[in-house]
Order: sequence, then C-alpha cells, then structure tokens
Amino acid sequence: MERSFETEIELLRLGEGAVFHGEGILAVTKALLQSGVAYVGGYQGAPVSHLLDVMVQARDYLDELGVHVEPCTNEASAAAMLGASINYPMRGAVTWKSIVGTNVASDALSNLASAGVMGGALIVVGEDYGEGASVIQERTHAVALKSSMWLLDPRPTLPNIVRMVERGFELSEASNTPVIMELRIRACHLRGSFEARANRAPAVSTRHLQDGPPAFLYERLAHPPEIFRQEKLKSTVRMPAARRFIVERGLNETFDGPERELGIIVQGGLYNNLVRALDQAGLADCFGASRIPILALNVVYPLVPEQIREFCAGKRAVLVVEEGQPEFIEQEIGTILRRGDLQTRLRGKDVLPMAGEYTAEMILRGLEQFVADEAPQLASGASAAWIEKIDGLRERANRALGAPLPPRPPNFCVGCPERPVFAAIKLAQRDVGAWHISTDIGCHALATFEPFSLGNSILGYGMSLAAAAGVAPTQTRRTMAIMGDGGFWHNGFLSGVSSALLNGSDSILVIMKNGYSSATGTQELLSSPPEEAKQAAREKSAAAANTAIESTLKGAGVKWLRTVHTYRVAEMAKTLREAFRTPEPGLKVIVAEGECQLERQRRIRPLVAAALKAGERVVRTRFGVDEDVCSGDHSCIRLSGCPSLTVKDSSDPLKVDPVAHVNNDCVGCGLCGEVAHAAILCPSFFRAEIVQNPGWWDRALWRLRSTVIGWLAPA
Ligand code: SF4
Ligand code: SF4
Repeated sequence: MERSFETEIELLRLGEGAVFHGEGILAVTKALLQSGVAYVGGYQGAPVSHLLDVMVQARDYLDELGVHVEPCTNEASAAAMLGASINYPMRGAVTWKSIVGTNVASDALSNLASAGVMGGALIVVGEDYGEGASVIQERTHAVALKSSMWLLDPRPTLPNIVRMVERGFELSEASNTPVIMELRIRACHLRGSFEARANRAPAVSTRHLQDGPPAFLYERLAHPPEIFRQEKLKSTVRMPAARRFIVERGLNETFDGPERELGIIVQGGLYNNLVRALDQAGLADCFGASRIPILALNVVYPLVPEQIREFCAGKRAVLVVEEGQPEFIEQEIGTILRRGDLQTRLRGKDVLPMAGEYTAEMILRGLEQFVADEAPQLASGASAAWIEKIDGLRERANRALGAPLPPRPPNFCVGCPERPVFAAIKLAQRDVGAWHISTDIGCHALATFEPFSLGNSILGYGMSLAAAAGVAPTQTRRTMAIMGDGGFWHNGFLSGVSSALLNGSDSILVIMKNGYSSATGTQELLSSPPEEAKQAAREKSAAAANTAIESTLKGAGVKWLRTVHTYRVAEMAKTLREAFRTPEPGLKVIVAEGECQLERQRRIRPLVAAALKAGERVVRTRFGVDEDVCSGDHSCIRLSGCPSLTVKDSSDPLKVDPVAHVNNDCVGCGLCGEVAHAAILCPSFFRAEIVQNPGWWDRALWRLRSTVIGWLAPA
C-alpha cells in the first residue's frame, strides 16, 4: 500500500498521561495496545479498515511490544485466529466489516463461542448500516444472539470507546466468552480526545515464547460430546458471569432527568443522535443534560434484567430506541417487564421506523409522537417546528430544481484499469448478443451503474462464479462471472473455481487483476506486484509480473486461460468473443491485467513532484477532443464512463449540441483513444504530451512545429 500512516503510528506510541487527538477507529487501535493485546488480525473493510492498515504499517513498533499482526485472506481466517485465546492466556483482537464479514466468519465464530475462551477475545466490527452503507442491511446483533457472544455498542465518545475496549477484554475473560464490539460509520470517524495510558507488552507474546502446547483438555474442543455441555455453560455459567460483570463494572450508563415518569433506553451507539433529537425538541441541552432519564446500553447483549427493571420501575412509559430489524432489544425488554410484572408502557417500533438509519431527524419524529402520547405537557412545539423546517427545505429544493435531485452513483476512479473491460464487454455483446453476468463485490461492481449497467446478480465477495452455477445450464449463451483478484483470494478460488472445475462448468470467468484489494483501501494480496515490478515502473524498465493467479488456475486444471492487458480494448473484446465462441468445453478464464490507478498515482505523484522540483524534464500524457471534429453524439462517453470525459458548449455557433471534452483530471490512461479505435468512432481524440521543464531540444522542436503550423494554418 502506497499510503503512509506515519502520523497515526506516532499516536499509537503515546505514553501514560499524553493526550490522544484523533479518530474513533484509531482510538480503538490504541486501546488494544493499552489492553495488552498479544495478536491482531482481520480483513479490511469500511469503516474499520484503518485499524488493520495502521497496525500492519506499525509492525516494527508492534514487534518491540511482542504483538503479532496478520492481515488475513478473509474473515473466516481472522475469526479462526481467535482460537489462540481458547488454550492460552492471550488477548486477541480481530476486525472486519459487518454484516458481510461476520457471515463469512460465522463457522469459526460458532466453534469459538462454543468452546469458550481463556484469554480475552475481541471482535471489532464496522457496523455498516444506514445511509453510508455499502452492504446488505442486516445487523450483527442476530449473530451475537445465535452464538451467545456478547455485543458492545459503545456510546460514541473517545474516552467511552477506549473504556469499552479495555472492559471488553475483561468481560470476555470474566465470562470465558468472545465479545463483539460494533462501531457504526459515524463512531469510527468521530474525532475527539482521551488521556492515553501506557501500552502493555503482553505476557505471552512473540518476545516471550511458550514452551510447547498446553495440557490436553478435551473440553476445549467444540466436538461431541463436549458441545452439549458447552451449550449449557452458555446460559448457566457464562451469561450470569457476564451480567454480574456488566453491573459491577458499570458498563451501561444511566443519565438521570427530572421527568422520572418517562424513560428512554437507547443503544449506546445511537446516544449522540438521541441527544441531538432531544435538544431539538427542547428536552435536553446540547451537552446531553436530558429532562427524560436515559439508560444508554453500551452492552446491548446480554441485557441485565435487574438493571432494566430498576430503570423502568415507577415509570409510566419507556421508549426503546433501537435501530434496524427485528427489534431484538425491545422484545427482550417486553419479556423482562412482563416477567417482573411491571406495568410500564413499552414504546419503540410503534413510533419509530422498523428499517433504516436512526438519524437525529428520524428519532425526533418518533420522539415527538412518544411525547404527544405520553406527556403532552412536555411538547413545546420546537420539534414540530424543526421537522417543518426540514420538510420545507426539501420541498423548496425540489421546487427550485423542478424534480428531486438525480442520483449520483459512485464511479470508477479516473483512469481505472477496470473500466476498459466493461467497454470491451459492450463491444463484444454487439456481436455475440447479451449474456448473463454474475458480478461480485469490488470496484468492478461500479459497472452495475450507468453508463454500463452490466451485472445481473451479486451474491457476496468472491461468490460470482458459484452464483452462475445454477444459471449456466439454462442459457443458450455461456454465462460470465466477474471477480476481482481480492475476491479470488478471499473466497472465489475455493467457492467458485474449484466447484466449476469439479462440475465441468462451461462458463467464463473474468478476473480483474489490478494487484490490490482496491475497494477496501488498496491492501496487498498474494498476487500484488512484487516490489521489483513497482520499482521498474518507476524506472520505466521491465520486471516480471506476479503470476500467482495464473499458476494457481493452471495447477487446479484450467485449460483455457488468457491474460490480456485491460487498456487494450480491441484485444479484450476479441478475447471475449473467442471465449463465447470457442468449442472448447470447461471453464474459460480471462485474467484482465492492469494495475489499480489509484495506487499507481499515489506512487507516481510524489516522484513527479520531486522531479519537477529538481528541475528535471517531466512528460505528462493527456488526451483531448478536437471540438471541430466532434459530432456531439457522445458514443465515446457512453462506452467509456470516465468522469474526465465530459461535455462542454461548442464554440462553433452552428453546433447546437455540446461537444465531448476531456477535463484536467485526465491521467492519460488512453482508454478514450482505445475505445474510439475499437468501436470505430469519430477521429476526434488526440493524444498530447505536456512537457514540463523542457530542454533545448523540446524548445527547438516546439519552435519548428509552431512555424510549420503557422504556414499551414495562418491566423
Ligand atoms: S481503486 Fe483502483 S481499481 Fe478501484 S476504481 Fe479506483 S482505480 Fe479502479
Ligand atoms: S485518457 Fe480518457 S479515459 Fe483515460 S483518464 Fe483521460 S479522459 Fe479518462
């Protein structure tokens, strides 16, 4: 990865009493070290990628502490790493994006939760739920419930998040149970400060080795007949121990208020949004002093029945603010109240939406109804006024625009090497006809948006080829699966390729070999360009590419295998046509090779800047459109989709339609020229070289050219 986390690593080194200023997810990373974690693993994904990325770059420092860090190939291997805490008094932490990552990790997690742990085991998940989410909308809560793992949802302030990491390990050890900490997008990116403590070197570590395995204990294995005893332990020993710890160590927080006949029970992670809503309703100040008492659940599973009953006793009504569905917490509180014979009215999903993110606005709408029903004397009209203002703003914006704002879907980066493959697919489909495309998770999924609109199903990371298995035998044409190299190593090889080979599948697989797990932040893979190749790219010399994917495929028995550079659109289209028309049976794989442009630009930009500063000659390639030639039909835009290829008004008064135009963001990848050539479009594209710090030869050539052009086209 070309991005540097030097500043973040310095924050990890902070000692006792120093003040940490930074983001929530980095505070978690620091808290892991303060807790004496012995090993860290995970699979990157927003919004928790930072944790692992920083840890991986901080390897030298972690080595001083004796902490082992490992970027895993998927979440299942990360979860399995926690097996170290079953037999050894070692604290371990792993991280991934949930719910998708938790699904992948579920098998290992079930086994871990059954066997139980000796050392604290903490799973930090990015709860990718709500407006900024990029995955299916489900909650980690369901997984915690089914496997009996405790679930933390910390109130988003940095000191509290850090406290919950430290207590999370202790809770895990006190109850021999793995603990999950869910962090919403806003909690991960929240900024703040806390007083740091010194990092703790773990007692068992890469610097303090153990002499051999532990004594053999069958009870530590999730295997029959032990599994039956372990199931009982969950409810009879581990759960009561966890509940005791939660109460004794004050993990949940109560905020009192004068309106004691009412109460609000909120998932800790939603506390800030709740306070904002209360503030707008005139029921709290912006620092959180609420008139209605609040129970903030930093631990959302397990609930402690005595604590819930104590909070609800004597109250006329309680509002449960719980995001997503089903309403696990509300249902359990209903049971707790009923079993305690408390008559407190339970409100929640009857006034708040069942699905979707609970923004302050959403909570306020529910709160307004709750107050109107339960304590109308508290309704000041402030919330209604705020809601009216928001609705009014939306309406005014719609009126001014004449229609709701058009959606602005995400797009490939400028110069992305994956975009040309989709241009080639469009061209090949003109000859072969449309075919079923089973797509995957990764940057290439951006091709499901305009202008490509390619892809018929997404079944999970690395699952595209497996997802085509049921479709392929029912189609007149072969089916195509697309996956990235990230997806290939994550799950695609085992779930897709091996199954297709075993079953003699006659479908086509395109692997986008851009060299990194790009969609998650450009982390390195088994098939990343070797360091010599990166160096060679800098020096413009040739170096052997990484052929791990090709060798793996050949070794597994793939016979029809082609590697094509992605920017060669015509060649890619030809290879695609061949894959669809060849009589050769079996799986056909096209490796689409082209380094991630984001990573390439990160590497090249500082080098170019340094060269310019040193006065060296630097040549930059740019593409452009000759507006005198452009006919204005915009076929190039529909086939390319590059954000740099846009439109502008023609300076020719006789041309009514806007002409194509390449703006200054162009990185000179050459796709537009390739597309124009492969699709036999108008010849309006030109390639230009911008020379900075020109030498005498450049200047002489320029003078000569200007003179000749002046003769041919006098001003
Ligand atoms: S991160 Fe890389 S692979 Fe992903 S869209 Fe950008 S250039 Fe393409
Ligand atoms: S050459 Fe064309 S496709 Fe490539 S970055 Fe420039 S405008 Fe975009």
